[in-house]
Amino acid sequence: MLVPDPVEALAGPRWRDDAFVARFGDAFHTVLAAQSIPQAHWVARSDRLAADLGLTDWIRSDAALQLLAGNGHGRDGWPRATVYSGHQFGVWAGQLGDGRALLLGEIDSPHGPQEIQLKGSGRTPYSRMGDGRAVLRSSIREFLCSEAMHALGIPTTRALAIVGSPLPVQRETTETAAVVTRVAPSFLRFGHFEHFAHPAEDRAALQHLTDAVIEHFYPAAAAAARPAAALLEAVARRTASLIAQWQAVGFCHGVMNTDNMSIVGLTIDYGPFGFLDAFEPGHVCNHSDSTGRYAYARQPAVAFWNLHALAQSLLPLVDGDVELLRAALAPYEQVYADEMLARLRAKLGLATERPEDANLADDLLRLMSANRCDYAITWRALARFDSADGAANDALRDHFIDRAAFDGWAARYAQRLRAEGSIDAERAQRMNRANPKFVLRNHLAELAIRDAQRGDFAEIGRLLKVLERPFDEQPEHARYAAHPPDWAGHIEVSCSS
Ligand code: AMP
Ligand code: MG
Repeated sequence: MLVPDPVEALAGPRWRDDAFVARFGDAFHTVLAAQSIPQAHWVARSDRLAADLGLTDWIRSDAALQLLAGNGHGRDGWPRATVYSGHQFGVWAGQLGDGRALLLGEIDSPHGPQEIQLKGSGRTPYSRMGDGRAVLRSSIREFLCSEAMHALGIPTTRALAIVGSPLPVQRETTETAAVVTRVAPSFLRFGHFEHFAHPAEDRAALQHLTDAVIEHFYPAAAAAARPAAALLEAVARRTASLIAQWQAVGFCHGVMNTDNMSIVGLTIDYGPFGFLDAFEPGHVCNHSDSTGRYAYARQPAVAFWNLHALAQSLLPLVDGDVELLRAALAPYEQVYADEMLARLRAKLGLATERPEDANLADDLLRLMSANRCDYAITWRALARFDSADGAANDALRDHFIDRAAFDGWAARYAQRLRAEGSIDAERAQRMNRANPKFVLRNHLAELAIRDAQRGDFAEIGRLLKVLERPFDEQPEHARYAAHPPDWAGHIEVSCSS
């Protein structure tokens, strides 16, 4: 048949019978229906993700709207909420779990099996005091940032769509509800392991979870003498690489609790995140984080702390051999340092490696901090650095209040570039693939949110299109790459979502 059957084209997600999480028993999850939202309507869709999943036609259908609004697909054993525990702000928080998220199942896609999860779809046995809902405001932030991070090449859960509703939701003020559809190969967190290790150890469940994750996501660890230790090392390496990518792009997660750490090294749970505007290593993006535990510069150390919490959970599986797990964690710091240096070299447009590169990069960051330079704008502007003619660098120089300090650094940079025979035009091209022009600054999300709260969703779509090409010049969208307006400094993002 040449013309595709329209019913077939809209058939939608191909649900897998042997979904990964279906291997786990009742201790791991609760099967329950979503509480659908009234008067569900589309707020946003990611056509790019839909295409990646082979769902281009389906995502425009009413069937998709109904499913993603929480109206169910009637498959036995689904949806399900999973249970996890975790450390929040460094303190053991006990049982948490999918308090407002539901796994609809796992689908086949051209990129391998993907789990489909609704967030904001109503109460579950793990909701504790919460209402199981997510507000439109935070749903827009999560949707945009998931897709923006993916476009930046940073491992992340994805977001397929937002469905909105007039259903009132009480936060500091009364807002309205939304449901985000998230997509990832796995939503497992460090906290899933912690759950079966504390306070009472369920060794069989822990072993089962560990074996399954190794088999499915870290097969190389299966051959190790101590697979649990090999898993820990592999997770540590992936996490180190992820955090280096966050740091390089100036991303602050905001709530790096162990239940928000992905076991497969994805950025997960976008809440009070932020991208750096002016470069300030101590920047705290989460208004609720009064001690600055999750400040930008602390993220690498916090991730390492979280890996220690994961290690603690795995201890029963290695007969309490602390030294073995310590050794498994050891590569973290070096992997992080190497990855970070590699990314800084790329940001500087260096094609070769020299011992002085770390100092050159550090000194630029110090200058940027002292001069409160805008992180994204300054890095992007550096691509136009003229290594032969210092006078041609006036525009770049203007980013720095301390011009003499910049000149000192610029002379070293020019010398370093000459030492590797760097060609400015080629270097600029490389740098423009390493230093994004467009990142999801708070004020950009805020403008899209304000429109959406008045019922106009067009800005979400426009912003998404710009963020899907963060490294392209897009001169027609220059305003999205400009310095933040003064009011941006007053935006408060907190855990309230
Ligand atoms: P988060 O800080 O958003 O990652 O959430 C931490 C924990 O609180 C998780 O177990 C969430 O499922 C749960 N949670 C957050 N907000 C709500 C809500 N409105 N209703 C139910 N559970 C929630
Ligand atoms: Mg969370």
